[in-house]
Amino acid sequence: MNPSRGESLTAVPMSSAAEVEEAVAEALKAFPDWRETPPNDRAQVMFRLKAMLEDEFEELAMGICQEHGKTLVEARGDLRRGIEMVEYACGAPTLLMGESLENIARGIDCHTDRIPLGVVAGICPFNFPALVPMWMWPLALVCGNCFILKPSEKVPLTMQRIAGMMKKAGLPDGVFSIVHGGREVVDALLEHPGVAAVSFVGSTPVAEAVYQKGCLHGKRVQAAGGAKNFLVILPDADVAATASALRDSAFGCAGERCMAGSVAVAVGEAGERVLPALVDILGSMRIGPTDTADQPDMGALITGAHRDRVKELISLGEAKGGKVLADGRSVRVDDAPGGYYVGPTIIDGVDYGNDLSTTEVFGPVLSVMRARTLDDAIAAANRQSFGNGACLFTTSGKAAREFRHRVSAGMVGINVGVPAPLAYFPFTGWNRSFFGDLHMQGREGVLFYTKQKTTTVRWFSFGEGDIWVK
Ligand code: NAD
Repeated sequence: MNPSRGESLTAVPMSSAAEVEEAVAEALKAFPDWRETPPNDRAQVMFRLKAMLEDEFEELAMGICQEHGKTLVEARGDLRRGIEMVEYACGAPTLLMGESLENIARGIDCHTDRIPLGVVAGICPFNFPALVPMWMWPLALVCGNCFILKPSEKVPLTMQRIAGMMKKAGLPDGVFSIVHGGREVVDALLEHPGVAAVSFVGSTPVAEAVYQKGCLHGKRVQAAGGAKNFLVILPDADVAATASALRDSAFGCAGERCMAGSVAVAVGEAGERVLPALVDILGSMRIGPTDTADQPDMGALITGAHRDRVKELISLGEAKGGKVLADGRSVRVDDAPGGYYVGPTIIDGVDYGNDLSTTEVFGPVLSVMRARTLDDAIAAANRQSFGNGACLFTTSGKAAREFRHRVSAGMVGINVGVPAPLAYFPFTGWNRSFFGDLHMQGREGVLFYTKQKTTTVRWFSFGEGDIWVK
């Protein structure tokens, strides 16, 4: 669907368990040769793919606008971050180097090597049609694995296009496949004995279920879930820069980001200083379709059902005593009346009894809580169950140090509203935002997609028979 207009773009097949069987069989067939392909040759495929992705960058970005509804600037960011994963994967020979130590005992040496796992699968959410799948397959492939991707059924086209480019870049048949579909396909992948590992990104209930089921079937699993990210503002924060960072964090990608700021905790007078500036800049934001040359500041939500759910959460939050400072529920987009729009919304006076303090909204809604001290604000941020991101806005180094040390989230921003790490750092969600041990991206990604082999080597001393020594 094109969420900007609520119209169908095209149709893709919903694959069946039988097609998963076929994809796994092809991948298992392709694995021995791909595993033997030297890491440098695997990396060359990524170099060629990177060049192709750059050549087709604008067309791919516009495709993301069409199937997802985010703006062209946001779609370019989605793809750019994904390409950075391809660039990171180009370093395969270095990334895959093992360790060795001579003389662990007299005349004995020990080596570790990184060995691919086999066939691995990736299951993705709708919100980053390029980036999230590219957290997975570039590294998995250069590590020597075969990969089966199940994109979100809501945004199946971007990866379908990129898969065509992978073939042209020289990836052998069977090394990468796509299966479209939903739960049936996910279950088939999780149960298949030929699949060695599963990477999952999506909502927490599904992430937890996928983690449990995958582990039960003997697979290595990394499963990233939902989030509720707190943005704490101290009274000494820079007003204009903070207001603009809050807008980008809470309303960028229409709030459909696992790193989106969801609750602002205003400490002391911070609310009176920053909120009016924020409400002011929201007034000039244009909401509308993103499939045209005339780009708005914010696009549509992914489906009509999700739009209705976001509106419902706003109303429930209001009913629990929240005061709506900016109301996006009744936004009208005259040139795209069928699109799934909610405008930027701010609800002040949210407290612990209000669901908006704990539930992931995944829409353009910023709730505001009030706190007397930094201690209270950290306690509020640590009270909910997720643990992706947490941010502090301040000019105080000691407050920043305290926050960074005590907040229970895996990715911390200091005067940065979306502290999402780049390709060469791990994406370190905590608590109920992540199930598993090794995260996506960076060194942890390489560890996830390989197993280590240690070899201990001893050669006996030269003896009588070694005539060639003399
Ligand atoms: P989702 O959980 O509905 O779907 C994710 C994937 O799981 C899809 O491919 C879907 O087809 C599949 N799926 C859905 N229900 C399933 C079930 N019952 N059994 C098996 N598979 C199932 O998530 P979504 O709505 O596509 O994406 C939004 C969510 O993803 C948000 O919660 C967001 O926070 C999260 N997310 C997290 C991160 C992160 O790094 N932590 C990144 C991006 C998105």
